[in-house]
Amino acid sequence: MAEARPLSFDVVVIGGGVNGTGVARDCAMRGLKVALVEKSDLASGASGANSGMIHGGARYLLHDLSVTKMSCLDSGYIQRIAPHLCFRIPFIVPMLESTPRAKMMLELMEVYFEAYDVYQRHKNARSSTRLTKEEVLQLEPGINEAIIGGVTFDEWGIDPFRLCVSNALSARDHGATILTYHEAEALLRDGEAVVGVRARDLVTGEVLTLQAPVVANLAGPWAPRVAALAGAEVKLRPGKGIHLVYDRRITNYAIVAAAIDDRQIFLEPHENSTILGTTDDDYYGDPDELWATEDEIEYLLQAIETVFPSIRQHRVVRTFVGVRPTIFEYGPVEDKLTRDHRIVDHAGSGAPGLVTMTGGKLAAYRLMSEEMTDAICGRLGNHARCTTHEVPFPGGDGDASLPELAQQLKLSPYALRRLAYRHGSGAAAVLEQAGETAGTQVCRCEPVLEAELRWSIRNEGARTLDDLRRRTRLAMGPCQGFRCIAKAAEILRQELELSEPQLLAQVLDLLQQRHRGKAPALAGASLAQEELHQARYFLLGDLARQGCSGSATDTAAKNTWEREQ
Ligand SMILES: Cc1cc2nc3c(=O)[nH]c(=O)nc-3n(C[C@H](O)[C@H](O)[C@H](O)COP(=O)(O)OP(=O)(O)OC[C@H]3O[C@@H](n4cnc5c(N)ncnc54)[C@H](O)[C@@H]3O)c2cc1C
Repeated sequence: MAEARPLSFDVVVIGGGVNGTGVARDCAMRGLKVALVEKSDLASGASGANSGMIHGGARYLLHDLSVTKMSCLDSGYIQRIAPHLCFRIPFIVPMLESTPRAKMMLELMEVYFEAYDVYQRHKNARSSTRLTKEEVLQLEPGINEAIIGGVTFDEWGIDPFRLCVSNALSARDHGATILTYHEAEALLRDGEAVVGVRARDLVTGEVLTLQAPVVANLAGPWAPRVAALAGAEVKLRPGKGIHLVYDRRITNYAIVAAAIDDRQIFLEPHENSTILGTTDDDYYGDPDELWATEDEIEYLLQAIETVFPSIRQHRVVRTFVGVRPTIFEYGPVEDKLTRDHRIVDHAGSGAPGLVTMTGGKLAAYRLMSEEMTDAICGRLGNHARCTTHEVPFPGGDGDASLPELAQQLKLSPYALRRLAYRHGSGAAAVLEQAGETAGTQVCRCEPVLEAELRWSIRNEGARTLDDLRRRTRLAMGPCQGFRCIAKAAEILRQELELSEPQLLAQVLDLLQQRHRGKAPALAGASLAQEELHQARYFLLGDLARQGCSGSATDTAAKNTWEREQ
């Protein structure tokens, strides 16, 4: 495939996670000409595999106070720019009778959370409360009765996929070029200086030459590999974390438990599911090859069972796994590693023009991005001030209630609420664009509307079924795609004019991914049911015989982010 003519920018951002999209937005809003390249889809790395909290990190109070403060501050700003995407998650920390010196520990815990309250006001959180045993059990009857009381504290949740997509949409509205499924495969050099990126379109094979005086390495756990393209070193201590996802919300409150090694884990109602997480283990493998192991799953179940005894009776619908791009330190156990971030200008190590940011938290991404953009602007002589904490995301700027049209569609209030959650004040436009099909539901579990799928393909750069999953929560509910995948595939085919083999490859790809997430957590009847579902698709859908061995991205259609511009 021939190289296209070079394109010139002020900055090329590598990575479409929360930090890459956050920096792209900030740079574009300060008037810089920005290109962002992401080798997969937005939020396909750590940013789509976390616990979905823009929290303060109560546990960092003891050894990383600045991280707690920064995360609380930024959580408050994120709530301001994305009010539709944020939701409260109240937590209960129950104190088991069997805890050594339980009464004293409960007193200490109350004091601890009072100290946390000092920072909580930055993120509009309610103060902690000491609860009696009866009060805890009244709020959350599933909690183990062998407790002496508990303490509450308040956190905020967010849909991390929509957070990244919103950043990218806003960046694009301010002139940025967003290139998903484009891998940075080499850095351009002029002598020592890094002067751009050679990026390959992983769908068409086309090679793009993106020239820029600054290249921002925001590749998360892949940052060392990107830096190595310029012969520079970035050292991480990557930490693998898994989560189990339960069918619907099984508790009203998030519940904290101590694991066998005294680490804190939690069961958390999140959107319309419940998440059990998370582990934190040194990871030496490939960040592209991740799956949960039985040991990791058992570690979480054993821990939460101590405070929520019925957990094994609830249905796990899948697992998901991510790797934290934690800063390197030799010595501390994984849990005690700093969650602070670091910006490295590689000018000092023979690669001027390349700047890397690693570490940090989803909750502090906007402040981190501001700091990184300050560094980029400093190199370019741009003195514009940051406004990303003032200007709302698309959809975050007004009334998210739906117009009369929505009431006429005979959709459930729940479906409308979910649409308004994802699109804020933009929900009306999603329905209006769909015309006659506006009221059609593609999946009842979530629920997901045909209108939203078409909107995401036309306006949000979705190119594959998995992209639709990230943007709309298609196949994220209890059916995990078995009910909705064929209908969604047909919509994708119509919108992107896919051929039959392309379409089938898309279906197979999503089914395989869902299976990979589910299989480690299945046993007995649920495993048998899963095998039957798989067989139904493979035999009735004839997927195996159709020769669908390529991945969805091999056969996906042209980049719709580009089509938009
Ligand atoms: C298990 C777990 C739980 C967590 N829970 C929380 C939480 O609840 N709250 C919180 O605040 N933080 C949490 N975090 C931390 C948070 O998720 C991360 O700090 C954050 O998502 C990192 O974002 P990033 O953009 O730096 O990296 P990523 O999201 O990994 O993005 C990097 C991107 O770069 C792309 N890329 C890599 N190489 C190339 C290349 N050569 N060319 C183009 N693109 C490339 C990748 O595909 C990827 O999409 C958690 C993390 C994990 C793993």
